[in-house]
Amino acid sequence: MNDTVGTNGLIFNEPLLWEKGAPGRTGFSMPRRDVEPAALDETLAGDGPDFPDLSEVDVVRHYVRLSQWNFSVDSGMYPLGSCTMKYNPKTNERQASLPGFAGAHPLLPEELAQGALQLMFELQEYLARITGMDAVSLQPAAGAHGELTGMLILHAHHAKQGRPRSKILIPDTAHGTNPASASLCGFHSVAIRSNEKGVLDPAVVAEAMDEDTAGIMVTNPNTLGLFEENIREVAEIVHGKGGLVYADGANMNAVMGVVNMADSGVDVLHLNLHKTFSTPHGGGGPGAGPVCVTRELEPYLPIPRVALGEDGRYRFSEDHPDSVGKMHAFHGNFGILVRAYSYIRSMGGHLKKASQLAVLNANYIKEKLKGTYHLPYDRPCMHECVFTDKNQQAHKISTLDIAKRLMEYGFHPPTIYFPLVVHGAIMIEPTETECKADVDRFVEAMKAIAEEARTQPDLLTEAPRIPKVRRLDEVTAARKPCLSG
Ligand SMILES: *Cc1c(COP(=O)(O)O)cnc(C)c1O
Repeated sequence: MNDTVGTNGLIFNEPLLWEKGAPGRTGFSMPRRDVEPAALDETLAGDGPDFPDLSEVDVVRHYVRLSQWNFSVDSGMYPLGSCTMKYNPKTNERQASLPGFAGAHPLLPEELAQGALQLMFELQEYLARITGMDAVSLQPAAGAHGELTGMLILHAHHAKQGRPRSKILIPDTAHGTNPASASLCGFHSVAIRSNEKGVLDPAVVAEAMDEDTAGIMVTNPNTLGLFEENIREVAEIVHGKGGLVYADGANMNAVMGVVNMADSGVDVLHLNLHKTFSTPHGGGGPGAGPVCVTRELEPYLPIPRVALGEDGRYRFSEDHPDSVGKMHAFHGNFGILVRAYSYIRSMGGHLKKASQLAVLNANYIKEKLKGTYHLPYDRPCMHECVFTDKNQQAHKISTLDIAKRLMEYGFHPPTIYFPLVVHGAIMIEPTETECKADVDRFVEAMKAIAEEARTQPDLLTEAPRIPKVRRLDEVTAARKPCLSG
């Protein structure tokens, strides 16, 4: 394993800019003064901000070095389960920086923004086609924001029927944001346990479903990386009691061009453009969580909506009295929409292939590592597979130790301790980005670590020793971040 990427090389120390600066350094030279000096107005005089004096080289090196401490999908494999850290093609960036898009002001009159409006309209149409749903809003800024929008739509639908409902069913394999979004919307969430195969049991849903329940919120594929194969039956039960089916489609990367969500009984669905549609994410940057609905729920979508008039011109339409209202300033994160549009247009019919390869990669890893690592649900998976540390616990090695050691082999750790239904979970999502050679390298690293757990456990419990920052107290690190190198 001497040939893995990122395991060695130069690691720079980097002081704060304040420690680096020296009085008199500057990034540019001013021309000689050709006027008499004059004193500043007394009221304006003062010490000024405490900025260090630095040269241009100081500043460039400082920020480039800091950027090199970060791991990114551009520097290596990033198999963070549920997050779909797939490669973001650079052509997306090129399209998003076209001056007509990058410089467009959100208050431009419609007639001067026809190109931007057309792009949004067509993106809505593409997303409807990819999911099988009827109508789309691009406004929500993240997956969880899309969930909240969807919950508001469920609420508005029941209120319109004159029968507001108070509860919502949420499987134990749902994403953690689901119950949070439901409760933000005022729903009381009722947990539904999944069966021994890791999926929903229609009988359990039938038992919990009643006429005070607004619907069910199903992550599909779920957070175990399994397809909810009983979704149609579940949808029938929920619809039978007047409820609606919300699908968390953040994991659509596994099923693009394969599953028609409307056919499987879904009424409302959100997508994560910053996962499935290759727009950048991480670090809390801008995202997009479009919401897709059936024709019946279209009147509740957020306003303004992007529409195509009979005169062939695109426009914003506000006249939707049943709408849940506005979910984002202006029209959502437009730059992200351009990137997703670029991805869909450049992939075309190959989107299906992307999903198939994502599923193939995850199943390949599952088959290669099962036995070495305990696999709680041994069945075909979708885009991610979930192992545990059960086999390594015999040597007092935990999931956390395995994840930390993996960093020294040059890989971003997988998602750990999630989903909560699996004790000591290690959730691996390779995505379609990785070629077989890279997936094999990852498998080899995971196997080498399992061997070390047996023979040299200190290598794991003391990891990571190579990276810039060693093992942190994660709670303190999150609450009291240390921002100096
Ligand atoms: C990532 C994810 C979300 C939340 O998306 P954000 O954009 O982080 O708010 C919701 N559900 C699932 C299944 C996810 O993977």
